[in-house]
Amino acid sequence: LLQASAVTKLYGDHPAVNDVSFSTTRGQVTAILGPSGSGKSTFLRSVALLEPIDGGEIRFEGRLVGQRQRGGRLVAASERQLAGDRSMVGMVFQNFNLFPHMSVLRNIALALGVHRRGTKAENADRARDMLQRVGLDGFAEKFPTELSGGQQQRVAIARALVLNPKIMLFDEPTSALDPELVREVLRVMESLAEQGMTMIVVTHEVGFARNVADRVMLFDRGRIVDDAAPDRFFSDAASERTHAFLEHVL
Ligand code: ATP
Ligand code: MG
Repeated sequence: LLQASAVTKLYGDHPAVNDVSFSTTRGQVTAILGPSGSGKSTFLRSVALLEPIDGGEIRFEGRLVGQRQRGGRLVAASERQLAGDRSMVGMVFQNFNLFPHMSVLRNIALALGVHRRGTKAENADRARDMLQRVGLDGFAEKFPTELSGGQQQRVAIARALVLNPKIMLFDEPTSALDPELVREVLRVMESLAEQGMTMIVVTHEVGFARNVADRVMLFDRGRIVDDAAPDRFFSDAASERTHAFLEHVL
């Protein structure tokens, strides 16, 4: 479904993501762990086509995205092409990023309007379906400030789902939440996984990585330094790097 080959992203001279190759198949759930500054967010943003990459290439279903071939060289895709490619990816951030002056319904339906997907009434219906999917029936007319952090994050998930993405990326979706609100968000993510959504989740929730993910990767200094099934990742057989990291966080 997604194939990233030798992706490098530089900030100045510093490679935040350094020659990373990664591919995932439909329905696979990948958890990414790693120390602060190791490039996890940069990697997700690169895959979400939110930033141009400095090396390598990204393909969705075999098709080159974010860039195109011209005269034997890779150049940036057009804005129009990029917008289409981006709509295949849903992204959820740590801090929800909802528009405070818009109702929950408008927050969700907005993207449909931008992509000119349907009539206003159709889009509102679709937004309500998404709200139901994240367990927030009846919240359509509320404003973000009237919701708990966990509810806001579920709205953000509904908003990411509304364009019917092929893959969902989560960047520490529960890190900004009070502990008692973490579970409701993880539950929504788990049900998405059960429904067969392809997901990449940067998280510190070891329980989620262990119980929901099919695959766990450790990032360190811009590279993937471990990549294993959870059973092995969290066992004695894991790499020394992983042991050192887990000892530090657990
Ligand atoms: P955290 O766990 O703290 O979220 P991370 O693994 O997500 O960390 P990134 O945010 O991807 O790490 O950052 C990787 C490296 O790139 C860091 O050295 C960071 O300082 C640098 N970096 C990230 N974003 C930018 C930016 N917009 N401009 C310059 N440097 C950046
Ligand atoms: Mg980050």
